[in-house]
Amino acid sequence: MASELTVLKNLGERRAQALGDAGLYTMSDLARFFPRAYRDLDDIRPVSETCFDRNDVIEGRISGKIERVFFGKMCIVRAKISDASGSIVAVWYNQPWLAQQLHEGQTLKLYGRAEYRRGVKQMLSPQICRGHGIEPLYKKIAGVPENMLRTWIAAAAQREAAEVPEVLPESLRQKHNLCTYSEAILQAHAPESREKLAAAKRYLAFEQLIIYQLALGSMRTRGEGGAVIDVDKPALKQYIDEWAFKPTGAQLRVIGAIVADMAAPAPMARLVQGDVGCGKTAVAFAAIFAAARAGWQAALMAPTEVLARQHYENALNELEPRGIHCALLTGSVTGTRRREVLAGLADGSIQLAIGTHALISDGVEYAKLGLVVTDEQHRFGVRQRTKLSEKGQSPNTLVMSATPIPRTLALVIYGDLDVSVIDELPPGRTPVRTHIVPEHKLDGLYGFVRARVAEGRQAYFVCPLVEDSEETDATSAEQLYEELNTRRLRGLKIELVHGRMRPAEKDAVLERFRSGETQVLVSTTVIEVGVNVPNASVMVIVNAERFGLSQLHQLRGRVGRGQYESYCFLLAEKCERLDGFCRTNDGFEIARQDLAQRGAGELMGARQSGMDELMNGLMSAGPELIEETHEEARQLLRDTSPEAQRMVLEARRLFEKDAVKYGVN
Ligand code: ADP
Ligand code: MG
Repeated sequence: MASELTVLKNLGERRAQALGDAGLYTMSDLARFFPRAYRDLDDIRPVSETCFDRNDVIEGRISGKIERVFFGKMCIVRAKISDASGSIVAVWYNQPWLAQQLHEGQTLKLYGRAEYRRGVKQMLSPQICRGHGIEPLYKKIAGVPENMLRTWIAAAAQREAAEVPEVLPESLRQKHNLCTYSEAILQAHAPESREKLAAAKRYLAFEQLIIYQLALGSMRTRGEGGAVIDVDKPALKQYIDEWAFKPTGAQLRVIGAIVADMAAPAPMARLVQGDVGCGKTAVAFAAIFAAARAGWQAALMAPTEVLARQHYENALNELEPRGIHCALLTGSVTGTRRREVLAGLADGSIQLAIGTHALISDGVEYAKLGLVVTDEQHRFGVRQRTKLSEKGQSPNTLVMSATPIPRTLALVIYGDLDVSVIDELPPGRTPVRTHIVPEHKLDGLYGFVRARVAEGRQAYFVCPLVEDSEETDATSAEQLYEELNTRRLRGLKIELVHGRMRPAEKDAVLERFRSGETQVLVSTTVIEVGVNVPNASVMVIVNAERFGLSQLHQLRGRVGRGQYESYCFLLAEKCERLDGFCRTNDGFEIARQDLAQRGAGELMGARQSGMDELMNGLMSAGPELIEETHEEARQLLRDTSPEAQRMVLEARRLFEKDAVKYGVN
C-alpha cells in the first residue's frame, strides 16, 4: 500500500516503509497510534511503596557512592536512592558515563519498576526524568527515531481532531457521559490533566467496545440452517459408562445441554468454561462421539502442536476403537500423509480432524462438517474462529476455556455464545499445596525438587516475560537454566523452552518432558495452557509477583493432574495478594479478585499470550464499561431508527477495515 504519510516533515520512503511495517499507513493510523502507557511526573511514589506490579516515578537523594563494575563487556552502574520512606538501588546497564554524571547527594527523579533481586530492592534501568506533567510513552517502531515519531503523531492528531467526523452520535455521548472524538484524540496524545486523560481513555475504550460489539452482533447468523445432529442417546450413554472414571454431575449436565443444542435446528454456539482439570476434554469427546455416530464430521482445534498431539493420542485411545476414524492435521503433517488426510476429510472417511490452525487453512475441505470444537479459545482471534465455522454450512460450535470469566465479559470476547460452566472438580483431587518462597529459603527449595525427582516425579520452573529492559524473557529463562544446570540442580536432566524457539524445536522439548525423558523443564510462559503431564508434581514460578493471579492459577493447574501430592512454589517476597492466592484453589474466586485488581487484560493474560491486538485493546477496559457497552450495543441492534442503523453500519465498516484496532492502555 502506498503511504500518504510522506507529506509529513522528515518522512521519506524509507521511514514510510518502517511505519508501514508497523501497520501505519494513513494519518488516521498515526493519530490512533495511542501511547502504550503514560508517565505522570507529578505522581511521585514513596520508595517504600514502589511495587513490582507497575512502573513508578520516585524522587530521592543519591545516598552513597556511585558504583561502577564490569562483567566481561557489560558495565553496570549502581546508585542507592533514598527518600523519607526508605531506599532502593538503581541499576543501569551499559551506560558507563552515568558514573561521571551522577554524584552522591544529588536529587534524582526516576521512572521504573521495583523488584527484589537477591533480597535487595532494585530498580533496573530506570529512566532519569526531568520536568512535570503527564508524558505519553509510545511503543518503539524499528527504524524510526522516537522524537520524530512524536512530532508526526502530534501533527496527525491535530489533523484527525480537526477533520475526522465523530462516529458516536451526540445523544449517545450525552447518555454515557463521553467527551467528543477530537477532545479524546488530543488528550490521549497530550493530556493536560489526569481527569482529561481519563475522559479520553473512556471515550476511546467505549468507542472500540461498542463498534466491536455492534459489528459482531450484526454479523451473527444464528437462526435456522444449522447442522442438525440426531444423537443416538443410548450409544452415548454406553460410551460414557465405559469411561475410566465416573463423570461428575457438572459434566453430565453440560453434555446434556450440548446434545440438546446439536439436535436443534439453530446451530449450537456454546462456551464451556471450567477450571483447569475439571474434565473439559472428556465433555468435548462425548460431543464428538455423538456427532460422529450420527454421521457427521467433527474438527477439534488446539492452539499449539503439542496440545493437538495430546488430543490426538487421546482420540486414538478413546474414539478410534469405537469406529471413529481420527487424523492429525498440523503444520508438520506434510507430503503424502497430508494429501491422505485432506482426501479423507473431503470424502468423509475421516470423521475427526484434530489440529492447529492448519485445520482452517485454504485447501482443507470437509465432506460433512457438523461440529467444531476449539480448545483454550482465547488464543484464537475472532476472525480465525469465524473462518473455521465457514468450512461447514453452519456447523455447531463448542468452545472450551479454562479461564473462568464473568458471563458478560465472555459475551464480549466470544460473541453471542451460550455459556455452560463445569463448576465441579472430579472427586479425590488433592489441592495443590502453594507456598511463597522468599530469596533466603531458596536452598531448601532445590533440595525439595531433587527429592521429588529422585522419587520419579518431574518439575517445572517458569520465568515471567520481561519487557522494556536490558534483559529479555529468553535471557532470564536462559540464565535460570544455566544456574540450575551447572549448579543448583546439577546432574538432573534439565531442558529449556521459550517463545522465541522455532515451533518444531519447542514441541520437541515439550515432547521429551511429556515422555519423562527430561526431569526438569525451565520455560517462559509457553507452557501456560493445556499441557498435561500427570507425572509432574512441582511447579516453581520465578518472580511470581509479576504474574496476574489467574495466570498463576493456570500455571499451578499444570501440576496436581495425577495421583501424586503436588506443590506450587512462588518465588517472591511475602505480600497480601500472593498470600491470598496460596489459600485458595478456586479459579472463579481468583478470577474475580484479578478482575477487580488488575482489569480484564490481565485476567485473560493478554500481555503474555499472542492474542491479537483487537483483543488486547478490548481487554484493557474495565468490567463496568464492558457491561455498559454490551447493554448499549444490544439496544442499538434492536433499534430501528435511522440513527441507530447508521451507527451499526458504520461500526461494521470500521470493524472490517480494522480502523479501531488500537486501544489505549
Ligand atoms: P481440563 O478441563 O483442564 O481440560 P482435562 O479434560 O484435561 O481437564 O482433565 C484432567 C484430567 O482429569 C484428565 O486426566 C482426565 O482424564 C481426568 N478426568 C476428567 N473427568 C474426570 C472425572 N469425572 N473423574 C475423574 N477424572 C476425570
Ligand atoms: Mg484441557
